Amino acid sequence: MSNHVFGHCINPDCGATYDIEESLFSCRACGDLLDARYDWDRMEVPDKLSWFEQRWASRDNRLDFSGVWRFRELLGFCNESDCVTIGEGQTLLQQNDQVAQYAGLDKGRLFLEYEGLNPSGSFKDNGMAGAFSHAKMVGAGHVLCASTGNTSASMAMYAHSCGMKCSVFIGSGRIAYGKLSQALDFGARTIQILGDFDDCMRQVKDICQKKNLYLMNSLNPFRLEGQKTIMYRVLERLGWQVPDWVIVPGGNLGNSSSFGKAFDELKYLGLIDRVPRLAVINATGANTLFDLYENKGLRFNGGKVDDAAIDDYYRKLNETGYKPHTLATAIEISRPVNLKKCLRALEICNGLVREVTDADILQAKAVVGRYGLGCEPASAASVAGLKLLRQEGIVNDGETVVCILTGHQLKDPNATVNYHVEGQGEFSNRPVEVENDIRAIIEALDG
Ligand SMILES: *Cc1c(COP(=O)(O)O)cnc(C)c1O
Ligand SMILES: [Zn+2]
Repeated sequence: MSNHVFGHCINPDCGATYDIEESLFSCRACGDLLDARYDWDRMEVPDKLSWFEQRWASRDNRLDFSGVWRFRELLGFCNESDCVTIGEGQTLLQQNDQVAQYAGLDKGRLFLEYEGLNPSGSFKDNGMAGAFSHAKMVGAGHVLCASTGNTSASMAMYAHSCGMKCSVFIGSGRIAYGKLSQALDFGARTIQILGDFDDCMRQVKDICQKKNLYLMNSLNPFRLEGQKTIMYRVLERLGWQVPDWVIVPGGNLGNSSSFGKAFDELKYLGLIDRVPRLAVINATGANTLFDLYENKGLRFNGGKVDDAAIDDYYRKLNETGYKPHTLATAIEISRPVNLKKCLRALEICNGLVREVTDADILQAKAVVGRYGLGCEPASAASVAGLKLLRQEGIVNDGETVVCILTGHQLKDPNATVNYHVEGQGEFSNRPVEVENDIRAIIEALDG
């Protein structure tokens, strides 16, 4: 298998290639990001996507049951015996007319991809199934990540099931309780660093390099291979039809990057005839991508990215001591590690970037909850982003839209309870306090 796939530097001026058996998270020659690249001509790939439907009939095979590995021909970097799965990807694509109405979209046109149904409650499990399979293939013993919460919860769950040691680095105070409780329960060594996510990220990269440990952040290209399958499942639920739009929250930009790669490869393989447009949604309090892409005009430019503009931007963040701040802690990141790959995805998918406020996010989150699918704050950025794009007239009448709900409602119960109890918005649902008296209680029922 391994000679059909290799590590490949995304910088076209470099283009270095690496053996897939190496655990490398940036190019040794130039420091840029790496992809898993396939020599498709030497691989056996189905000639139409509906071929994968035969696997629905063999769900007692653990790989066919997995929402990641039932598409293994499209991420064939390891042997089947190395594929790690704990049943990820049993997710739902729900048509939701009420949320559509809220966002100003026609009936029948909005689909919510509910990734909260994954084993650890977020889309990160798709990526971990990929990365842990690579870790197993190369014999990793100790895996590490920096995390705003969900990466650590997911990594800890998979590490436990693979018998690997795991350590997570979290910033001080900015982690939702549902996520912290998972990392602790799954037995991760949890190191709380006095700093924010970006500080944790810098440390974990250095330490993995110095100590030759295995990095599980989305710098790891095999995470993104697993996350491609979110898009395969969306297509699967749409009868293999390509939607007009995919809207996704942007944090470290791994998910958006993997979606672009998925569509690029499917198009190359002739398995789809067009790609959807991609909208990546930042929180206003963590809007590096929005600022660089929409205000400063930064583009992928066929791989010739203006590195000086990025360096300059980050230098200014340092000089002003800027710290990102949003209630949507999963996307509270100001130096997204997959920035360049996301720019590439935006180029592939004729994409755009928007920012939404915390108030917009909380409102959209409450609407998603009211109409039946609970999500965490960051996830609702996708729905808030759609509402904005409808107001701007960019998403057109009659277009089909998929919003990714990245994580489960119970990840961050504090955000939900505060919104409702403190009456923070239009959809707040305050508990009603009454005397312990039947008449008073019945009266309250009619309120
Ligand atoms: C990680 C995460 C994000 C951000 O995804 P990126 O791939 O880092 O852009 C958004 N929402 C939730 C719930 C997450 O866990
Ligand atoms: Zn390189």
